[in-house]
Amino acid sequence: MNICVVGTGYVGLVTGAVFADLGNDVVCVDKDRDKIAALKAGRLPIYEPGLEEMVLRNAGDSRLSFTSDLGVGIRHADVIFIAVGTPPKDTGETDLSHVESVAAEIGRSMDRYKVVVNKSTVPVGTGGFVREVIARHQLRPIEFDVVSNPEFLREGSAIEDTLRPDRIVIGAPTQQVAMTLVELYAPLERPMIITDLPSAEVIKYASNAFLAAKISFINAISNICEAAGADVTQVMKGMGLDSRIGGAFLQAGLGYGGSCFPKDVDSLIHTAGRLGYDFKLLRSVAEINRERAAHLVETMAKALGPLDDTTIAVLGLAFKPNTDDMREAKSLEVIQLLRKAGAHIRAYDPAAMDNARALLPTVTFSASPYEAAEGAHAAVLVTEWNEFRYLNLERLRGQLKRPVIFDGRNLWEPERMRRLGFEYYSVGRKPVLPT
Ligand code: NAD
Repeated sequence: MNICVVGTGYVGLVTGAVFADLGNDVVCVDKDRDKIAALKAGRLPIYEPGLEEMVLRNAGDSRLSFTSDLGVGIRHADVIFIAVGTPPKDTGETDLSHVESVAAEIGRSMDRYKVVVNKSTVPVGTGGFVREVIARHQLRPIEFDVVSNPEFLREGSAIEDTLRPDRIVIGAPTQQVAMTLVELYAPLERPMIITDLPSAEVIKYASNAFLAAKISFINAISNICEAAGADVTQVMKGMGLDSRIGGAFLQAGLGYGGSCFPKDVDSLIHTAGRLGYDFKLLRSVAEINRERAAHLVETMAKALGPLDDTTIAVLGLAFKPNTDDMREAKSLEVIQLLRKAGAHIRAYDPAAMDNARALLPTVTFSASPYEAAEGAHAAVLVTEWNEFRYLNLERLRGQLKRPVIFDGRNLWEPERMRRLGFEYYSVGRKPVLPT
């Protein structure tokens, strides 16, 4: 099939590479000329395990090409995927301006029947909006269909998630239109849900909001555990083994960040309001999540005393492990609060430091976790990279001025930290205090 993917971000580039790998002829389009120039030169604008090899292989075999000319991509394709960003506005509402401008260009450049597929996360009703924008910009009437095919990939395992998704959701106006996508996805042999457009759009938000709710729920429980002397990791195990509940997304910590959950939760709250429903439950989910960074910094201030003029080593900056994505990363909130309290920050992240530099101008970046910890008054773990799981903790202890660690993700076992001589504070578990 001839495919155009608009937007070469985390979703678009992975989608384009996987479709090319399945034998389709794919043109990836982005308005960012630097990104396109880099991709043409074989350099990837993002870090995603396995992506570089797949992109280079398919580009080498001429199944995958890149352009900043949207018209070229549109005329090439029978199926056009819109995978551009849908950032939040200040009100929480989704900014659809990128989707709108792509839809307008699709209308202008359309030369024959097309299936236009919305892969970006968009509020319910956007399928109809895209249809209206395309029709309004057509130079002459040409038939087309709009389909919703929301994306569920996770950064850090995006290739695997795209090759083996739990389900593929296709919201189409007719069965016949849905079949175009069924055919495209058939080689993956994964379960498909074929439904109407609005239902597909709601499935995406309902799924993300539900996962966010699980995270906030266990974080609220962790507050109770801290106050009551219980251990949230035991509570989580006891809950998660119940097959009706499941253990996924039940890890207590600093809460959710990233480019999806925070904005999707806010967007669904906003959409609900627009439709006349006050989504109180979801407002609480967001509120609990907002409190997490402050809760950690309060724990730090209680343990260390005034943070003024202290040096804190921050381990992990990306919003989660295995990505360089800093969007809505909890590290930004933690560092801002620490800076406000007068602390100096030395930080290390295995992949996100290049992206973090522009966002954190007052932070000193270190070449290793040990360098970050050198002479620091404490270390705080913000992102649970595997590299940190296997740190030489004795060496880290030797670098710190005072052997105290705040673990925002419950990465280490308190008993081990006690044996290693650390003062150790984690989430929803009893602290390991100095003897
Ligand atoms: P991104 O910001 O990484 O990439 C979006 C790309 O679109 C950018 O490269 C930008 O230059 C390009 N773009 C914007 N306007 C354009 C235009 N008019 N023409 C051509 N290119 C244009 O975003 P992303 O993380 O890939 O997310 C894309 C969508 O997928 C969003 O709606 C997001 O909510 C959704 N989503 C993201 C993830 C994720 O993990 N990142 C997962 C599921 C769904």
